[in-house]
Amino acid sequence: MGKLSAVWRETNHRYRLVAHQCGNCKKMYFPPRDICPDCHRESIGKMKEKQLSGNGRIESFTIVHDAPSAFARQRPYVLALVKLDEGPILTAQIVDSDFSELEAGKKVRAVFRKIREDGKGGIIQYGYKFVLE
Ligand SMILES: [Zn+2]
Repeated sequence: MGKLSAVWRETNHRYRLVAHQCGNCKKMYFPPRDICPDCHRESIGKMKEKQLSGNGRIESFTIVHDAPSAFARQRPYVLALVKLDEGPILTAQIVDSDFSELEAGKKVRAVFRKIREDGKGGIIQYGYKFVLE
């Protein structure tokens, strides 16, 4: 594998929700890791790519209010800890959902949305966010 594919893999997991599973203890890691922190040497060369379903449940969440600023255009948003059905827990924004319905244990699924746009250059980054099922 060359440098390019390593870079691709780094960014790729944000789009495809791909985890790595340790071939030794079967634990899943997202973002992917090349070595299992539990098995160390035993896991070398045994980390396998696993496609995640994008389905999970809210573990906890917080409503984030941006600090007031002359440029603030963003309304409060929700950051949640989401436990995926396959096991990994990740932090992500909850979008397009009625905030009053948010509760720990509620089902969510991943969607791909614009994360940010870098000013004049117009570079748009996409990544996963979650919506209530
Ligand atoms: Zn392991």
